[in-house]
This record gives sequence, C-alpha cells and structure tokens, in this order.
Amino acid sequence: MPELAEVEYYRKEWDPGIGDPIVEVLAHPKARIFRDAPARAIVKHLKGEKLTGSFAHGKQILFQFSNGHWLGLHLGMTGRLSSQPRDYEPEKHDHLVLRGKKQTLVFCDPRMFGKVIFDRCEDFPEWWAALPPAVTSDRFTRTKMEAFLGRFKKSPIKTVLMDQRFFPGIGNWMADEICWKIKIDPATRCGDLTAKQVNELWKATREVSRKALQIIGEDWSDPPKTWLFTHRWKDGGKCPRKGCGADLVRADLRGRTTCWCPQCQG
Ligand SMILES: [Zn+2]
Repeated sequence: MPELAEVEYYRKEWDPGIGDPIVEVLAHPKARIFRDAPARAIVKHLKGEKLTGSFAHGKQILFQFSNGHWLGLHLGMTGRLSSQPRDYEPEKHDHLVLRGKKQTLVFCDPRMFGKVIFDRCEDFPEWWAALPPAVTSDRFTRTKMEAFLGRFKKSPIKTVLMDQRFFPGIGNWMADEICWKIKIDPATRCGDLTAKQVNELWKATREVSRKALQIIGEDWSDPPKTWLFTHRWKDGGKCPRKGCGADLVRADLRGRTTCWCPQCQG
C-alpha cells in the first residue's frame, strides 16, 4: 500500500500533463473508485480544462485544474498513476483516463480501494484544508504528538503510528522502520514509553519520512541497505544494524504484518 513517499512519487507522474488541454475523459462509471464522486460529473467538467498543479499530503493527492476544478485521489492499496502517450489504449483497470493533446493521464486501480474526490471551488477544497499537519512540517510538534499518544495508552505504538488522523502518510513499512530505528518493540503500549523514547520517536518519525520522500519520492529508489526496509520483505532477513545481524521476525500485530529485530527491539 502506498505510503507518503510512494504517494509523492505518483503525484509527479502526472506532471507531464500540466498545461495540456484535456480533450477526452474516459471513466468506468461503476468502478468503486467513484463511490464518493460520480464519474459523469468528472467527465463533464474536466473536458476542456487543463491540469495546473498538484499536491501530496500523507496518502492524499490533489490535482488542480483550470477554472476552479479539483480532483482528489486516494490510491488505496493498489492504485497507481502514470503518464502515457496521447494514443494510449486504456486497459481493464484504468478507471479514469484524461486524454490531452500531448499526454494521457491514467489512474489504474485493480482492487479499487482507492477513490476519487471532485470539487469545484476557487480555493483549496475544505477536506484538503482540514488535513492534519504533515509529519515533516513545523506544525508537527513533539508536544502535540505526546498528547495524541496519551489518548491511546493501551494501544501498541506501531498501530498508533499508522493512525492517519495524526500521522498522515505513515503506513506499515514506515511504522516498522521508525520503531526499529529507535529500538522500540512495535507492540509496546503507548502508555509504557519513556519520555526519552517519545522524544526519539518524534525525531525518527520526521527523519524517516523526510528521507523516504527524498529517496522513494524522487525516483522510486530503494532506501539504503542500512534501513530495515530492504531486509524486511524476504524470509531469512537479518537485522542490518551494525554489530547485530540477528534474524528478523515477522508476525501479525493487530492485523498487520510487522517486522522487527528481537535482539535490538526486545
Ligand atoms: Zn538488531
């Protein structure tokens, strides 16, 4: 499932279409991605408009079009965006296709957990303005984070880290990476974290996010081998921390596959 850095990567995929007038909009009206915004309104209103800009925030993407049209996208589990040549033939799972004079912009989503939001307004849509501060912004403060964790004293830190109401864009792999980085067992209850751990958690959340945006958000490169990321997916993965090298463990934690090092994070 795309997390903040993958979402940032996909946001830029439509950049080649900026300024290119849309001559045709193709949509599968019954696709579940249109559950909150009827496809016919999008088809009607975007034809003839131009993409003018794009924004990513956590797991959300917002595309701005001429004359106050806005298209919000959530990629869900399997959604992806691409730019294709003008004469591109849409495939089965391409549920929304914006054909321009030069480019074709495609939203493909095989499992359709993704969704589309459509607004017509001068300024940014209300739902966008109401999103919580980005974890990399100055408004994401340690004090606010501590207060949020305080509401979930009995919940595992890993689960709370994925709560989009406060940690927009943090998903499964990033939450594991953050816990691993500061040597916290992902199952630790928020109420049991020490003040020092809370401080480290705040710093690591920002650092992992910033670096993931730089590395994956840029061109889908893998993070360095010194991250848990490159070792977590395969059986037999070893902890990459200098001087450790213990076998990594993968197990279910509240419905999500979690990977950690029993030696560093015990
Ligand atoms: Zn280790």
